[in-house]
Amino acid sequence: MNNLTRRSLLAAGALGGAAALTTSTKAAGVFGNPDLPPQGAVNAANPQSLTDPGPQNPALADNLPSFLDPPPTDVGGMPMFWNSFNIAPKRVQNGGWARQVTQSDFQISTTISGVNMRLSAGGIREMHWHQQAEWAVMTSGHCRITVLDELGRPAVEDVVAGDLWYFPAGLPHSLQGLGPDGAEFVLAFDNGESSEYNTLLLTDWLAHTPPEVLAKSFGVPAEAFKDIPLQNRWIFQGTVPGPLAADQAAAMAQAGTPPNPFVFRLADQAPDKKTAGGEVRIADSGNFKVSTTMAAALVRIRPGGIRELHWHPNADEWQYYLQGSGRMTVFNTGPAAETADFRPGDIGYVKKSLGHYVENTGKDDLVFMEIFRADRFAEVSLSDWLAHTPPAMVAATLNLSPETIARFQKTRRDVMPA
Ligand code: MN
Ligand code: MN
Repeated sequence: MNNLTRRSLLAAGALGGAAALTTSTKAAGVFGNPDLPPQGAVNAANPQSLTDPGPQNPALADNLPSFLDPPPTDVGGMPMFWNSFNIAPKRVQNGGWARQVTQSDFQISTTISGVNMRLSAGGIREMHWHQQAEWAVMTSGHCRITVLDELGRPAVEDVVAGDLWYFPAGLPHSLQGLGPDGAEFVLAFDNGESSEYNTLLLTDWLAHTPPEVLAKSFGVPAEAFKDIPLQNRWIFQGTVPGPLAADQAAAMAQAGTPPNPFVFRLADQAPDKKTAGGEVRIADSGNFKVSTTMAAALVRIRPGGIRELHWHPNADEWQYYLQGSGRMTVFNTGPAAETADFRPGDIGYVKKSLGHYVENTGKDDLVFMEIFRADRFAEVSLSDWLAHTPPAMVAATLNLSPETIARFQKTRRDVMPA
């Protein structure tokens, strides 16, 4: 790590005057410092090139050292691929809160919008539905979900941290925090323009239907509806529900139960890939059958480890960071390359087929989710490609020795060291 600390920036500023006379630059156009004209602090022989006398917000800026001091292999100018729930405003009501990062907030994020929601014990996200599918990962506590499919088959399930759920587009559902601590989770809608604040709400529909139509449609007197809410509730405080089995029995239908579960226990699944460097667990329509528009991987990277250079040929990647700290560089044509840092609550976005890696920069495990609007998880590993191309082709292109090529992993590892 050669990131500038704020202190060194300030110190360089103090030196300013005398050092400003130095104008020679390091040799650029070399390994690790390829660009001409040179980019990166290593090329700034004049210390004033590194100072920032202007207004600053260190609490924000110091969280993103790779923006302050990009590696000299970066080429600036790519669309922003970093965002965070940490900088999204919360809508708070009695019973919980939510905040979101949609394409309106994050222009690059065309395929997925994200919502971070908290429900207190008993807190209810009101019964609703929407035009897009809803994928979710539980990050804390316990939650009860209810859903009805298009054949009238209900499901009521409890989920805990590490579980996923998936509601196909248009299926109506509700969420409620359970005891003792309620629930927190992240939703990913399979459309970047989706918003948590424009879902179809049960209360809104009933309040905006003529009472005599309610009476006819439900076959009960209109007066039976006289106390319905006139404004929607969205999130509100309810009572912690009783045993799951009782709720399941109460919701039971002649039509039976849905053939495939809407819940997937991802954290309980054995790793699909496990190395000394970390683990990857995958949930897509292959094992989580209802999740036909969303695929996901839960990635754990040990300290010092790296999610190797790779790309995804079938979909953009929406990342949600759960634990630890890491950095990612995204590579595009141009050439273009930019590096960003990620901490819990942050979001990353990588367009389909653009190269990237994710490196653990901390002392603890780095844990994040990769989410794709796709039916299957798909990945191409750079190492795998180079190991399974005739070595003469690789050697001729990269000036690598046969010995080096022979050391590349023959099976895809996903997380290094192997
Ligand atoms: Mn929903
Ligand atoms: Mn990836």
